[in-house]
Amino acid sequence: MTHSDLRIDLHAHSTCSDGTDTPSELLHAAAAAGLDVVALTDHDTTAGWEAARASVPAGLTLVPGMEWSCAWHHRTGRAVSVHLLAYLFDPSADAMLAEQRRLRTERRRRLHTMAARMTDDGLPVDPERLLTQLDADLPVGRPHLARVLVDAGVATSIDDAFARYLTSSRRYYVPREDTPVEQAIEMVAAAGGVSVLAHPFAYRRGPTIDADAITGLAALGLTGIEVDHPDHDGEARQELRALAAKHDLLVTGSSDYHGANKPIPIGAETTDPAVLAELCSLARGSTVSMGEGRR
Ligand code: AMP
Ligand code: FE
Ligand code: FE
Ligand code: ZN
Repeated sequence: MTHSDLRIDLHAHSTCSDGTDTPSELLHAAAAAGLDVVALTDHDTTAGWEAARASVPAGLTLVPGMEWSCAWHHRTGRAVSVHLLAYLFDPSADAMLAEQRRLRTERRRRLHTMAARMTDDGLPVDPERLLTQLDADLPVGRPHLARVLVDAGVATSIDDAFARYLTSSRRYYVPREDTPVEQAIEMVAAAGGVSVLAHPFAYRRGPTIDADAITGLAALGLTGIEVDHPDHDGEARQELRALAAKHDLLVTGSSDYHGANKPIPIGAETTDPAVLAELCSLARGSTVSMGEGRR
């Protein structure tokens, strides 16, 4: 296989956040899908890195990462949710660890409030039970609450649960106090990692960051933009590609795989091998892991 034939997916979630595959299952799914490289990018945690490193199948390469829940503040003061993919940073960097702990607490508080609002409306959700069911050391999110709503029979699928109860336009939605994205970019760089803006124009999810703001983040040390993402239409991709070219940002493509919590298969979108090589050459906080032996 030549270098340019490599299939690379740099965004996937495990049971360490809101995916349904364990880190080991995720890596085996990646290998089975014919991928050569996959990144593990759970929300706000590196909890899966060790288990993942211990189970990389032959022929596969693991890129350790994290999808950081951030906020960008509009001139009007309004906070817009922004996800930052951080790769190859030092997982023991104190500032990042402290922020991950704060976000875990914030996520539990917020999910409890959302569930309590549902209980008040007579929906079959028990906030205390929900939180005791979920691991206190792992980040919890709306997909966990969606699963409860589906199991209780008040939604037909995870997507339906989001549409009916969980998107930001619904009355049960409670915002989180996320990390200012400018600060996150600096912390990732200080921990020796590289940062890529995740699905910046995923309009379906709610308000998004704009082109001017991305220009500002590029000046602060942002390394790349995730352009090829299932939530981006052709127009969004075109606009983002032009923006990346203008500011010398790397362009990535990834599936944002969540196992059974989303219909998108692993490897549905991919990244150019030259881009991965560039990301690896810029990062010095941690290294990729290669599965031993031949596939
Ligand atoms: P949270 O981190 O609690 O704000 O939840 C956000 C997560 O929910 C994202 O990581 C997505 O994986 C998932 N999500 C957002 N919108 C939808 C949707 N419409 N259908 C299914 N999952 C979604
Ligand atoms: Fe998610
Ligand atoms: Fe995301
Ligand atoms: Zn994601």
